[in-house]
Order: sequence, then structure tokens, then C-alpha cells
Amino acid sequence: MIEREDTIAHTARLERELRAAQSRIAALEREVELQSRYVRDLNGRLAGLLSVSAALLINHDIDAIVQLVVQNAINLFPGTAAAYIYLANHETDGSLHLRAAAPACTPAPYIFHLAEVAAKAPRALLLNGPELEYFIHQQQSQAQLPTTDAGAWPQSVLLAPLRIEIQRIGALIICGERLSHLYHPRDLPFVQSLADLTVIAIDEIMQRQRAAALQRDLAHTQSLRAEAEARLNAAQAQLLQSAKLAAVGELSASVAHEINNPLYAARNSLYLVEQDLPPDAPQRTFLTIAQQELGRIARIITRMRDFYRPSRGELTSANINALLRETLELVTTHLRHNHVTVHARLANDLPPIVAHADQLRQVFLNIILNACDAMPSGGELTVSSELIAARAGAPATLAISITDTGVGIAPEHIPHLFEPFYTTKPHGTGLGLAISAHIVTQHGGRITVDSQPGVGTTFTILLPLEAPAAS
Ligand code: ADP
Ligand code: MG
Repeated sequence: MIEREDTIAHTARLERELRAAQSRIAALEREVELQSRYVRDLNGRLAGLLSVSAALLINHDIDAIVQLVVQNAINLFPGTAAAYIYLANHETDGSLHLRAAAPACTPAPYIFHLAEVAAKAPRALLLNGPELEYFIHQQQSQAQLPTTDAGAWPQSVLLAPLRIEIQRIGALIICGERLSHLYHPRDLPFVQSLADLTVIAIDEIMQRQRAAALQRDLAHTQSLRAEAEARLNAAQAQLLQSAKLAAVGELSASVAHEINNPLYAARNSLYLVEQDLPPDAPQRTFLTIAQQELGRIARIITRMRDFYRPSRGELTSANINALLRETLELVTTHLRHNHVTVHARLANDLPPIVAHADQLRQVFLNIILNACDAMPSGGELTVSSELIAARAGAPATLAISITDTGVGIAPEHIPHLFEPFYTTKPHGTGLGLAISAHIVTQHGGRITVDSQPGVGTTFTILLPLEAPAAS
């Protein structure tokens, strides 16, 4: 009897325990189900973020990126009615401007206030019901705006700042469907990640744009530097040449001065001797030779003095074509005698140039006589003039070319042509081109040579229209 009652009580206890265990199992099962749903949800969102990040990294346009982010926000956060991105305009006052909205629409004014809250926040925020109301009211009273009807607000928003290190570049706003939806704090790390991905993509584009701009600046600066260097080199070369010529000129002038007096005395003495010699004296031949040679020395001395003599004549408005014609007239007989045919190709639109006409005539004469010397058995002499219009960095220039069909100049002689006393002629002085270069340099110009042995030579005189005042 007692045994039976014990058994019944035992069974009842066991049944109670069984029921308790079953309900615990059921509770655990529910929790497992919840957890696995959460894990599925988590996986889904991670996959979503991953695909957004892949899409962001292949986009190279800020507008395309922000558009992609707001569209994906709607899928990533179920129950979302709209998403917005505002970006700060750092070129002006740094104020926020709507850059993307999904669905495309003009957001209500309070969205802008939320964007201001979000942009200043240190990290992502979740605002539900009363908090949301508090923030919107606060922003509206700060901005002194009429309050928006509370019925128009969503119940829940997710906000995230967009920032590159400490620089605030904007905000992401995700609004839940009105009345029904509340976001969960679990959503916060995802909003923050989405905002971070957006910032990384935008930052990359900005860096790339900055790098491209720097590269353009660098290339521009380099080309400016190269140009300046080339101009400096040319100016230095010209300076060196004129310094050399000036030094040699100074020396020649003082040597000429020293020689002139004894030369004068010697010529006078020879003259006196000549007066006393009988007309048929055999010494007369030697006397004549001595007189001729002293005459030659006197001419060389005169040219040497020309070298450093302060310029004769005034700076005038000179017509280059007229100067060339006058010079050619001067040597017509000489040229004809040497079987040289002259071709003049003078441009008829040459403006006048401020110059020492006498000096330029001397330059043309020197070069024409050299050309004639280079054609011992005749040939063609072409004299041309033209105006070269101003180009970047180079002023308008007159170019005068004198071309012969003579013997030409061996390349090894070219670098020395303008050195004083450099001559290949038995009776040359080697001063013609040195003086010419000096004169042209004084006019702010230069002389170039182009020659081919056996074919001929062209000397080109370049004179800037606006020459620095020649001295
Ligand atoms: P010079 O005529 O007294 O020799 P220049 O200074 O006028 O002195 O000329 C220097 C040298 O340049 C000449 O001796 C000659 O060798 C060379 N030269 C100048 N012009 C020509 C030319 N047109 N053709 C060939 N050689 C030239
Ligand atoms: Mg000469």
C-alpha cells in the first residue's frame, strides 16, 4: 500500500520535472531560433556591406558613390523609408548641402537639422521618438525656424557623421518608415561601417584629384623653369660675349692710342725722307712699301678704335631696308667686278627700328664684303629682310639674312668667327665680325651663322623691334 503511494508521488514528481524540462527546451529552442535569425540577418547585412564596398571602390565619381550608398541603405536596413547624404562645401563656408537622396525627392527641412546634428556627432546615433523630437526642436530653435508638425516626423532615425580623420565632410541620414518602424542599437555598427566605407571611397577620389592637380602644377612649373633656364643661358652667353668684346675693345682702344703717336711720327718721317729723295732714287720702291704697310697699320688701328669708341651719331628711327639698299649701292662696283650677282628680297611691311644707322650700315657692309671674299670666282649674294612676329617670351624681331654661294666655313672655325683678330685671310684683320657682333649686341640683338663648306654661308642678324637703348 505504502509502496504504491510512493510510486504515485514519484511519478507525479517525475512528470512535473519532465514538463519543466520540456518548457525549458522549448524556451531554448525559441532562443536558438532567435539567435539563428539574428545570425542570418547579420550575415545578410555583412554581405550587403561587402557588395557596397566592392561597388564603391570601382567608382571614381563622388556623385555616383553617394547615390549608391543611399540606395543601398534602404536595402541594408529593413523598414527604411528614405536615406540622405549631405556633404560640406569646403570651398565656401563649409555648410552642408544635400548631395544624394533615395528615393529622389527634396527632403523636409528637419532632415537638414538632423544632418547638422549627425555631422557634429563623434559616431553613429540612433534617435527614437522623444529624443528625435528633442533634437529637432533644439536645432529649429537655434536656427529660429518655425517648428515642424511632429506628426510629419519618422519614429526612428539612424545618423552617422562622414569624416576624414578630424575633418567633417558630411552626414548620412537613414529614416524609418513613419509610425511603424523602430531601429535597434544593433544597427549602429552597420550605419557606422556604411559611413566609413563612403568616406574611404570619397577620400580616395579627393586624393586622386589632388594628386592630379599637383601633377599638373608640377608639370607647369617644370616647363616654366626650363623656359627660364633657357632664357637665362642665352642671356648669359650673350653677356659673356659682350663682356669679352668690351674687354678686348677697351684693350684695343688703349693699344691703338699708344701706337697712334709713334705711327704718326714714323709716317711723317717717311714723308720728309721722300721729299728729299731724287725722283729716280732706287730706294723709292722700299719707301713706297714702307708707306703702304704703315698705311695698313693705320687702317687697322682705326678699326680697333672703332671697337670701343662711344657711338657716333644719334639713335634714330631707321629703315632697315633703306640701310641695306644704301650699303648694296656702296659696293655695287666692287661686287660686279668680282662677278657677284645680287638678289634683294626685302619685306615691304618692315616697321622702322630705333637704332644707330651708321653702325648698322657698318655691320651690313662687313658681312657683305666677307661674302664677296668667300666667292673669289663669283657667285650669288642674296640679301633678305623679314619681320618675325612676337611669340611667347620672344619680342617681335627683324631678321636680316645675307647668303652667299661661296666656299663656306669649316665647322671648327665657326665658334671663333666673332673673336677679335680671328681671320683666315692673308691680309684680314679679323675685326669685321667682332665689331659687327658688338654693335648688334648693343642693339639688343644677335648674329647667327649657318654654313656648309663648298655650298655657302648665311649670316642672320636678329634685331628686336623694342631694343634696349644702344650706347
Ligand atoms: P676678316 O674678314 O678680316 O678675316 P672677319 O671678322 O670679318 O675678319 O671674318 C673672320 C673670318 O670669318 C674670316 O677670315 C673668314 O674665315 C670667316 N668668314 C666670315 N664670313 C665668311 C663667309 N661669308 N664665308 C666664309 N667665311 C667667312
Ligand atoms: Mg671681314
